[in-house]
Amino acid sequence: MNLDKLIEHDDTEDCPACRAQDLVVMALLPAVQAWEQRSELPQFSLALHGAAGLLGAMIENGVPRNSIEEAMSALLDEIEEEIAHDKMLGGPPQGTA
Ligand SMILES: [Zn+2]
Repeated sequence: MNLDKLIEHDDTEDCPACRAQDLVVMALLPAVQAWEQRSELPQFSLALHGAAGLLGAMIENGVPRNSIEEAMSALLDEIEEEIAHDKMLGGPPQGTA
């Protein structure tokens, strides 16, 4: 399985990478944060373990761990750039477009 295909933007209206990221920021992240608070779990505990659990499902399906780590590293680089960019503009962090 080639993860590059999953992390590349295809520059279309319905780019799979952007759609997935928007979904996480708009739907998943607020739910996870609310869940952490309600369950009195430390901040980010559910985010971190949830992400690891989701990635674990990929490993279970035969995706090599180093492919996942490479893909994650590339995605986090991209997210860091976006955060730096948003901060420069002075606006609040936003979903990717
Ligand atoms: Zn995209």
